[in-house]
Amino acid sequence: MQEFVQGARNQGLNVLLASGYRSYSDQTWLFENKVQQYDGDEEVAATIVARPGTSEHQTGLAADITDDYYELKQPEVLELTELYKWMSAHCQEYGFIVRFPKGKEDVTGIIYEPWHFRYVGVEAATFIMENNLTLEEFHELYGDDIAEAPVTPAATPAG
Ligand SMILES: [Zn+2]
Repeated sequence: MQEFVQGARNQGLNVLLASGYRSYSDQTWLFENKVQQYDGDEEVAATIVARPGTSEHQTGLAADITDDYYELKQPEVLELTELYKWMSAHCQEYGFIVRFPKGKEDVTGIIYEPWHFRYVGVEAATFIMENNLTLEEFHELYGDDIAEAPVTPAATPAG
């Protein structure tokens, strides 16, 4: 993560590491806040903030990265920033993926989040980003053991 952030800073980009590791109580607070915001609708809230115990932030493998405080930004704005352009183009070199990509909301169950990067290792990240996959689709193809995934696929599916 530090190398990834440093890589962006080396490009002269302003990097704000909005959220790295979160404790269970942090996540509970965030989730309950979001539920309140949606009049008690947990289902809707869960598409925006992960339920306590299920957030990747609790694993320490994910971080929210923006050039400014992200709650002020719409995905459509954020994805046009130089920072996001660089990060989404180079994240796999550092083992990270755009975890909740645009157009894959049905697969991930989470809204498009052009700030949430998740560490999966360089090999898996490269494959996922080059093939425009989600972690869910990757697991479906290769099972849950990321480490055993092939470096390069024998045949890349079209599309
Ligand atoms: Zn996040």
